Amino acid sequence: MFSNEIIFIHKNKTLNNNGENLSVDNRVDERKLEDIVDKVLRGEIKLHQLDQLLKSSNLATLVRRRFIERKIGSQLPSLASTIIDFDEIVGRNIENPIGAVQVPVGIIGPLKINGEYAKGEFYVPLATTEGALVASVSRGAKAITLSGGAKTRILYDGMTRAPLLWTPSVEEALRLVEWVKQSFNEIKAVAESTTRHGKLVDIKPYITGNNVWLRFIYTTGDAMGMNMATIATDKACNYIEENFPGTVKCLALSGNMCVDKKPAIINMLEGRGKTVVAEAIISRETALKVLKAEPELIHDINTRKNLLGSARAGAIAYNAHFANIIAAIFIATGQDVAQVVESSMGYTWTEITSNGDLYISVTLPSLEVGTVGGGTRLPTQREALRILGVEGGGDPPGTNARKFAEIIAATVLAGELNLLAALAAKQLARAHIALGRGKKNKEKHS
Ligand code: NAP
Repeated sequence: MFSNEIIFIHKNKTLNNNGENLSVDNRVDERKLEDIVDKVLRGEIKLHQLDQLLKSSNLATLVRRRFIERKIGSQLPSLASTIIDFDEIVGRNIENPIGAVQVPVGIIGPLKINGEYAKGEFYVPLATTEGALVASVSRGAKAITLSGGAKTRILYDGMTRAPLLWTPSVEEALRLVEWVKQSFNEIKAVAESTTRHGKLVDIKPYITGNNVWLRFIYTTGDAMGMNMATIATDKACNYIEENFPGTVKCLALSGNMCVDKKPAIINMLEGRGKTVVAEAIISRETALKVLKAEPELIHDINTRKNLLGSARAGAIAYNAHFANIIAAIFIATGQDVAQVVESSMGYTWTEITSNGDLYISVTLPSLEVGTVGGGTRLPTQREALRILGVEGGGDPPGTNARKFAEIIAATVLAGELNLLAALAAKQLARAHIALGRGKKNKEKHS
């Protein structure tokens, strides 16, 4: 038996868990559906063939879920409960879907930002199951807002793809690099013929023996740009292979010097996506009143923990918990979650001002974000972007993604400030007992 709850409501269509479309009289033959599940179980139909066979990814999702329910001998009504229209996202965002997971979304704010693109007070959605995270970032945001807000600036904007090319010798490698330099305008025209928003701004060469990496750098409008850069670079590589008056082979479109979804110093030095700084001066009064910690102690802990501790550990990023905030915003807003790896690398810097206040900044060298493309088109993720005022393409293109990057950096600043202060005030473990183990609610209800 399968539960009969409504699994899908979207664009005037309502399907229940039997695949019945309740809004139009177009009933699915339950017996036929079960026949298909049997065939999938016997291996006569492959999971990936169902969408075409049933001419509906929503029905295919239902059949795949019934298949896995029969396999494990248990129902999956929670995975079934979703508003996602699989007809819209299969072929773009997912293959072989069986349903969707849900992650709770909390909100922090108001967070005042005085950026070049983000100006005003913002409420930021965080999707997480880590108790205490939202409360922690909220308190940091309060201290920043009371102190006049966070200043944000974007230092660099460029998405990269670095193909690996083979040449027979280092001399040929040098000839290739020189030819690419001379032919930049032609290569740029070829690459840009694949996109309206992608613009090739540079090609940085790296030679190792007879291997050449060409690090293509693009601005990509409001898109994070990884597909855009990949498609454009593929065409450029074909052009190079066909037109270089020598011997060259494009061995791999991605040669791992891009560097996508892996921690790497090159992204920290040269930037990838957006390089963003957020800074604030927290008045001594606010530090003591809101954060319950002296500026000097916050500064001392930052130096010893984030700088010395990270150096001692051999870390390549010197911060307390950028990844907490980046991951929660990425999940809420449909970013490519694996890019939390490089997007959360960065530095936290503090000083004591001549007035005895706390200067604090975060620098994120490779924040990879977009407001169009990828998972940003999913309904809940679009709404999360709407809360920030950055849903879809900006006017002019690129301004929404830049505003979004500034908001993320300011939110990371709030998270860093609060965690350092919590450590200074010895509140970290207490907060996690109260908010991460349900103790606060139990106290409330007892
Ligand atoms: P995309 O959805 O592939 O491209 C963005 C699309 O939006 C383009 O068709 C672009 O048109 C259009 N567009 C409309 N308005 C725009 C605006 N204002 N600014 C920019 N583009 C606009 O997204 P993407 O960011 O390039 O790629 C993101 C996806 O790549 C994610 O799903 C991610 O998971 C995936 N990914 C791919 C790789 C890879 O190696 N291929 C690696 C990691 C992640 P034009 O192209 O005509 O400008």
